[in-house]
Amino acid sequence: MSDTDGKKPLGLSGGARSGQVKQSFARGRTKNVVVETKRKRVMAPKPGTNTAAQASAQGSKSKAGATDAEMQRRLRALQMAKAQEAEDAERRKREEEERAADRERRRAEAEAKEREEREREELIKQKAEEDERRKREAEEARNRPAGAPAAATPPAGGDAGQPQRQRNLGPDARPGGPGNDAKRKRDDDSGKPRGGDNRRSGKLTVNQALRGGEGRTRSLASMRRKQERQRQKGGSSGPQEKVMRTVQLPEAITVAELANRMTERVADVVKSLMQNGIMATQTQTIDADTAELIIEEFGHKIQRVSDADVEQVIDAADDKAEDLKPRPPVITIMGHVDHGKTSLLDAIRNARVQAGEAGGITQHIGAYQVKQGDTALTFLDTPGHAAFTSMRARGAQVTDIVILVVAADDAVMPQTIEAINHAKAAGVPMIVAINKIDAPGADPDKVRADLLRQEVIVEKMSGDVQDVEVSALKGDGLDQLLEAIALQAEILELKANPGRAALGAVIEAKLDVGRGPVATVLVQNGTLNTGDIFVVGEQWGKVRAMENDQGKRVKAAGPSVPVEVLGINGTPQAGDVLNVVRSEAQAREIAAFREQQSKDKRAALGAATTLDQLLAKAKADESVSELSLVVKADVQGSAEAIAQALEKVGNEEVRVRVLHSGVGAITESDITLAEASKTPVIGFNVRANAPARAAANQKGVEIRYYSVIYDLVDDVKQAASGLLSAEIKENFIGYAEIKEVFRVTGVGNVAGCLVTEGVARRSAGVRLLRDDVVVHEGTLKTLKRFKDEVKEVQSGQECGMAFERYDDIRVGDVIEIFEREEVERTLA
Ligand code: GDP
Repeated sequence: MSDTDGKKPLGLSGGARSGQVKQSFARGRTKNVVVETKRKRVMAPKPGTNTAAQASAQGSKSKAGATDAEMQRRLRALQMAKAQEAEDAERRKREEEERAADRERRRAEAEAKEREEREREELIKQKAEEDERRKREAEEARNRPAGAPAAATPPAGGDAGQPQRQRNLGPDARPGGPGNDAKRKRDDDSGKPRGGDNRRSGKLTVNQALRGGEGRTRSLASMRRKQERQRQKGGSSGPQEKVMRTVQLPEAITVAELANRMTERVADVVKSLMQNGIMATQTQTIDADTAELIIEEFGHKIQRVSDADVEQVIDAADDKAEDLKPRPPVITIMGHVDHGKTSLLDAIRNARVQAGEAGGITQHIGAYQVKQGDTALTFLDTPGHAAFTSMRARGAQVTDIVILVVAADDAVMPQTIEAINHAKAAGVPMIVAINKIDAPGADPDKVRADLLRQEVIVEKMSGDVQDVEVSALKGDGLDQLLEAIALQAEILELKANPGRAALGAVIEAKLDVGRGPVATVLVQNGTLNTGDIFVVGEQWGKVRAMENDQGKRVKAAGPSVPVEVLGINGTPQAGDVLNVVRSEAQAREIAAFREQQSKDKRAALGAATTLDQLLAKAKADESVSELSLVVKADVQGSAEAIAQALEKVGNEEVRVRVLHSGVGAITESDITLAEASKTPVIGFNVRANAPARAAANQKGVEIRYYSVIYDLVDDVKQAASGLLSAEIKENFIGYAEIKEVFRVTGVGNVAGCLVTEGVARRSAGVRLLRDDVVVHEGTLKTLKRFKDEVKEVQSGQECGMAFERYDDIRVGDVIEIFEREEVERTLA
C-alpha cells in the first residue's frame, strides 16, 4: 500500500533527484515515502575573480541574463567587500599579533616570577638539606664511636632488584621499563609542541604542586624546629620573661603613650581596652582610672603622677632636719549644719581680737590666726565639708587638726558622720567641741555616747580623742578648746623650713574690682616674699603685695601664715597649690602646661568612652530636660557651693546644669555664653558691668541677682519645675475652612474662611490641615472680620486669616485653632 499510487508526488522540480524510502511502522504497517534531493549546481569560476562562492553566484547570474551595468555595480560592491575583508583580516592579524605579544610578555613575567619562586624554594630547600645534613653528620659522629661503620649496608634480605625498584619509586627516578619508556616518549612528544618550560607559565602540574608543596612544608617545618630549638636554647634569658615596669600615670594619657610607657604593643593595649568595653584609637586620650585598669591587666606597677616633666623645676627637695622649725597648726571646723561652726569661729576670733589688737575689725580673707600662749593657731574660715574635700581633691592637704562641732542639745547627725569620715580619710586628728552646753536640754554625755557608735572614743570615755565642752554663744570653754588644740599641735610636732622657696595652698580666690585677681594663700612651707615669682594652679604671677588677716601689708609670710596675695594673672581655684619658681618663663611655661593638661583631662572625662555610656547618655538626654545656668559669684567658695547645690536640684526628668561658674562681675562674655545656650545668668553677690547689662538687654538674656544661696536654689527649683514636661495640655477651640485664597500685596496670601466650629482666636496657635495631615503649625498674622482686625470670630461667621511666615494655603484646607494650657508641677 502506497500513498503515492497514481499520483504525482509533490516535489521539487528541475534539478532534484528523487527516490523512494520505505518506512515501517508498528504492527507491520509500511509506507513508501518519496525523498527528493535538490542537486547542487556546480559553477565554473569566472575568470578575473578569485573567490568562489560570491563570484560564482555573480557569474551564474550574469549567465542568467544580468545587464552590464548591473554587473559593474555588483563588481564594485564585490571589490568593496573584498577590500573590507582584507582590511578586517589585516586588523585581525594585528590584533592577533598584539595578543601574542601580550601573551609572550605575560608568560615572561610569570616565568620570571616562577623562577624567583623556584630559586627561593631552592634556597630554603638547600638550607633545609644543609640542616638535615649537619644533623645527620652530627648523628653519625655520635654513632661512630660506638663502632658502627660509616658506610651504609643494604637492608637484610634485599635482592638485586630491590635498589633498582627503590630508585624507581624515588621522586627523582626516571621510569625504567619499556612500557614506561613508551609512555615517557608520549609525554615528551606531547609536551614538545607546547614549548617545554612554557607549560609551567600558567598552569600548575600535579608534580610541580607536590614538589613545591613538599619543599615548602619541609622548609617550614624545619624552620619551625629551628625556632623551637632557639627558643629552648635561649629560654632562660629569652623574651619570655616579662619585664615589670613602674608606669608613671598622669591624669590623662593617650593610648599610644600608655603602650609606650608599658613597653607593650599599641594593638595589645587597644585590644585590652576593647575587652574592657572601651573603644579607643591609639591617639585617643583616656583617663587615669581606665589607664590604671589596663596597666594592672598587663601586670605593671602604677605610679600616679600629677606633675609632668615641665613641673620638675619646682623645688621639691626635702628639707634638712636642722632647717626645720616648729610651725603653727592649721585648723578646720567641721560639723552638722546649725551645730554652731560659724558661731564658734566667730567666737574664737572675736575673743582673741578683742584681747589683742584694739578695735581690730578683721578683714575676711578666709583664714585667720590667733595667739595661744607663745604659739599661733591658724583657723581656716571656710566651714563646711565641701571646702575641705574640694581642697583635698585638688591636692592641697592644708588641715592639721579638725574640730568636730556637735551640738549638745542635738545628736550626732548625718553631716557629723560625714565630717568624721572626711577627717579619717585625710588622716587628720580630731578634737570634739561639744557646743551649746548653755542650751536647755544640752546633754554632752549623750553626744559622747553617740560618737562612740561612730568609733570616735573621746577622752572622757577613756579614748584618745580630746573633747571640750563649749558655748560659742557665751564664750565658755573657748580657752580650754584652744589649749586642747595647742596640745594636739604639740603632739603632731608640726615643722617647716622657713628658709626655702614658698609652697602654699589657695584658701579662697576672687576677682577684686580695684585690685584684680586676689587669692588667700596659706603658706605651708618656706617663706613667701613680695617680688617672688610663682605658679598657682593654671595661673602664674609675681607677688606685688601681701596683706595679712588683719588687712595689714606684709613683706613676707612664713609657714602656716595666711596672706592675701596680689599680682596673679588670673583667678586661681580654691585648693590650687602655689609654688615659687626661679623665673617668669618657668612660671609661664608651667601654667600653660597645666592649662593644656586640664583641657585634655576635661576632654578625656567628657568624652563618653564606652558604647554603653554613649547609649545611656543618649537615652538620658532624650528624656531629660535641662535647665542650664551661668553662675558668677564673689568668691570661689560661693561659686562652688552654688554649683554643688544646684546639681542636686532635679529628678529623672529635669536637671540643672551649671554651664559656667566663675568669680567676679558678670561680663559681656558671660552674656554671650548665656545667649548662645539660651540660659539665664545668676549673679551671687556680684553685678553685671555696664557693657554686660547693655548686651543682656539687647539680647534678651535674663540676669538674676542673689545674696542668699537658699533663695537662689529655691528659684532655680521653681524654674526647673517649669521644665517638667508632660503637663502641657492642648485644648482645641475651633476649626475653620478655607473657602477662598486672596493675594494681598504686603501681606501675602490671605485665606477667606468660614469658622465651622468653636471660635477663631487671634492669639491662639493654628495648624493647617490638608486632607487631615498637618502641613503647618504656627500663629496667625491677621484675623480680619470684613476690613477690621478682630480678636475673635465666632462659629458660623466668615473671616480672613493669614499665617505668620507661611503662605502655602489652599482652598479646602482646614485650620485647626488651639490653645495650650500649662499645668505646673513642682520638684520634690
Ligand atoms: P553652723 O551652721 O554650724 O555654722 O551653725 P551656726 O554657727 O550658724 O549656728 C546655728 C545656730 O546655733 C545659730 O542660731 C546660733 O545662734 C546657735 N548657736 C551657736 N552656738 C551656740 C551655743 O553655744 N549656744 C546656743 N544656745 N546656741 C548656739
